[in-house]
Amino acid sequence: MSGKDRADGLPPLRDVIERYGLNAKKSLGQNFLLDLNLTRKIAGLAGDLSDRTVVEIGPGPGGLTRALLMQGAKRVIAVERDDRCLPALADISTAYPGRLEVHAADALDVDWRALLGDAPSATIVANLPYGVASLLLVNWLETDPWPPWYDRMVLMFQREVAERIVAQPKSKAYGRLSILAQWRTDPKIVMNLPPEAFTPPPKVSSAIVDFRPIAQPQPPCRVKTLARVTAAAFGQRRKMLRSSLKQLTPFPELLLKRADIAPERRAEDLSVTDFARLALVLDESDAA
Ligand code: SAM
Repeated sequence: MSGKDRADGLPPLRDVIERYGLNAKKSLGQNFLLDLNLTRKIAGLAGDLSDRTVVEIGPGPGGLTRALLMQGAKRVIAVERDDRCLPALADISTAYPGRLEVHAADALDVDWRALLGDAPSATIVANLPYGVASLLLVNWLETDPWPPWYDRMVLMFQREVAERIVAQPKSKAYGRLSILAQWRTDPKIVMNLPPEAFTPPPKVSSAIVDFRPIAQPQPPCRVKTLARVTAAAFGQRRKMLRSSLKQLTPFPELLLKRADIAPERRAEDLSVTDFARLALVLDESDAA
């Protein structure tokens, strides 16, 4: 076992992994970041955390967790599914008294508002397990009420997923995730990482997306309706909307006319605002 890491007095992450036998499990999407200079840069992307509660998913051996605490996060709430990581995380808690809470849980089962306790909101920062990253993101983006319980999300994804999140109309990557993310937030890719940045290296490159929630997304449709409309439109992305939207309504041409969208257009030609307008018209016709 070698000495302490100069930055925070805790052992280097490679020693932590060896001490607690944290060999990476593929099934849990374990690709660790062991370079504290890099994790500090990532934590820095979330801005000033000194008065913030941070929610971290999948702290693993704690590289990003330590960086968040070093950067001055007031409180970090970490949710980790792999119990093998708990002793390593307990050591970090001891080094930062009263600032790190660890919850041994599956992030897909967490009630986020309850987890926050009396904190009014939180910033989510995570190197997400790729197997559940899109599902977690969609849950956070579809959360109600809106504005949500988080003020910002800084999240690592596979590069291909990050590109879908920020994709523009008329591109191959543009789809349901782009529309949901861009209607409710202002997503930006803020860092790209090659596979070698991780231990073990994944097969694909990665990217970090910074999401800032938009207080009042426009037009103000129901998020579930937007999801239904994009599912129908992109389920048959090459078809004209007058045909693909038959799944939603027996009168797709009427719906399109009310939303001022030509029936011959296809899903990938429509802007985020067009989709939200279609969803709003559908909400109004359901309410009528
Ligand atoms: N944050 C660490 C880092 O950057 O080195 C580890 C990131 S690793 C990509 C993903 C982490 O998420 C692992 O620690 C894994 O055990 C954890 N994990 C996987 N599925 C999870 C789930 N459903 N809920 C909570 N944590 C999960």
